[in-house]
Amino acid sequence: MRNEQPSMERHHGLTKEQIEQEFQQQNRLLEKIYESGMQAYIQDTPDVNKAFNLSDRDLRCIDEGTPGGLHGAGSGILLGSGTAAKIYKPAGVTGVYSHEGCGAAALYAKEKGLPADEADELGRQFAQELAAKLGVPYQGHISFGQMRRPEAPHIARVAYYDGTGSFDYSKIKELPPGFIISRRWLPEGNAQQELKIAIDIALGQHGFGGLIDDKNPFVISPIGNQDLTVEDLAQEIQSLAAEYGGRVKVDGFSAPDRRERESN
Ligand SMILES: [Zn+2]
Repeated sequence: MRNEQPSMERHHGLTKEQIEQEFQQQNRLLEKIYESGMQAYIQDTPDVNKAFNLSDRDLRCIDEGTPGGLHGAGSGILLGSGTAAKIYKPAGVTGVYSHEGCGAAALYAKEKGLPADEADELGRQFAQELAAKLGVPYQGHISFGQMRRPEAPHIARVAYYDGTGSFDYSKIKELPPGFIISRRWLPEGNAQQELKIAIDIALGQHGFGGLIDDKNPFVISPIGNQDLTVEDLAQEIQSLAAEYGGRVKVDGFSAPDRRERESN
């Protein structure tokens, strides 16, 4: 809506100065990643295997504020509950969450011509409906206070395009916060759609916006293993990334081998 109030006024978001501080703080990690590349960065990170050991298999949003478990934009709201149930059943989802201030739920409301202030309720209803279809509990509505980001803006400078379905950046402090797209379970086309949502948020007014530029690009990081290789994942998102020019770069890595042994 054109007459929408800026999010700074609606929410207890960060001030312009705090946003710049947060960006600079993340530069300590991002500059190392730009310099060495993700693969070397990951190899140099102690205990990185911990980032591949999920604490649960509950479905959450791709939002960088809701790490852990498995992920779908708005917990799958854009897929519809029938398709989402078909996709996430084989993933062994154990529960479904919704969350406050969900961009995917807002997009869903917009697509359906519904008021923006109903988005949270729509997200909640969808998560409950999907949980019922999967025969698992609805785990609740994650509040801003429980999320690993400020109310506004999004602070993700990375989107993890996860071919392993087991990645949780929040387990390791050296990993920058990022959107997590569970490509392991989502068909290519749906995963690309979710990735586009993530990039548009990060580069737009609900994210770091203009701070993300050619010198400080947003990173899409495909995470590969022997089934979905980092090269194949990188290839399938290359043309989407190219639409954003120098503001987005693709830099993936292979999951550490030890994780495969541990999870079997
Ligand atoms: Zn969300």
